[in-house]
Amino acid sequence: MKDIKKWFTGLALALLALTLVACTSTKESTSKKLKVVATNSIIADITKNIAGDKIDLHSIVPVGKDPHEYEVLPEDLKKSSQADVIFYNGLNLETGGSAWFSKLMKNANKTENKDYFAVSEGVTPIYLEGKNQAGKEDPHAWLNLENGMIYAKNIAKQLSKKDPDNKATYQKNLKAYLKKLRQLDASAKHRFDNIPSEQKLIVTSEGCFKYFSKAYNVPSAYIWEINTEEEGTPEQIKRLVTQLQGSKVKALFVESSVDSRPMKSISKETGIPIYAKIFTDSIAKSGKTGDSYYSMMAYNLDTIAKGLEG
Ligand SMILES: [Zn+2]
Repeated sequence: MKDIKKWFTGLALALLALTLVACTSTKESTSKKLKVVATNSIIADITKNIAGDKIDLHSIVPVGKDPHEYEVLPEDLKKSSQADVIFYNGLNLETGGSAWFSKLMKNANKTENKDYFAVSEGVTPIYLEGKNQAGKEDPHAWLNLENGMIYAKNIAKQLSKKDPDNKATYQKNLKAYLKKLRQLDASAKHRFDNIPSEQKLIVTSEGCFKYFSKAYNVPSAYIWEINTEEEGTPEQIKRLVTQLQGSKVKALFVESSVDSRPMKSISKETGIPIYAKIFTDSIAKSGKTGDSYYSMMAYNLDTIAKGLEG
């Protein structure tokens, strides 16, 4: 009986060892793929659209969280250290405020433009205007689809350089993706052109719509200018309430990645309803509307247009 037990234990151990070997070898085969890290869900999604299953991708800031300020986890440091290429937004996003990304790259021993690349390279920057922020770049370039196309091209360029074996796939996927984004951009421009100008004002918590405003010719207003500053102080609330009094604006919007309470105060004090939640600094959770860069932009453009049309 003892012998049988021993035999079974031996068999179980052998099976376990076999499983471990099998797991290790699968891991090894996937690790031959290019290891890519993206700082947030928007950049990760654009990367996925170009790379498909050709890469191993780690996205740092979780869906629904603020990419301006972030506490790096051990896993992020590990993935960044091992990465073949790292994509970040630049323009004062992850490198503004506490500059979490700059610290991470230093700790991971990575070099700019060799290991990590700003996907916003080539975008014409818009600058912040607030008293503590003036002269700094506004990071939210992706909210203009034309800039999203620049991001996609930059990502495809670096993937093709780092992984020339799959260059044809990256270039083919890029072409199809750009076509999709271009069509959405054209239809949005047409739609906003047809909204009466006195109703055109996008009101959000963070002043993240400067690039969007310029691209789609819709002015914007905000409670605070950028998430790295204090959010929703009485002074900021008062300033926006004063700005909205007497306007013909029919809708307020609140972003999925910020605290909605300050916008609720604005709504209460002005009587203008919060029309909808929109996506600015993060895509939506997988399976929900807005769970990709394309789908978040399509949803935002449609929702903002409906809200302003009244
Ligand atoms: Zn932001």
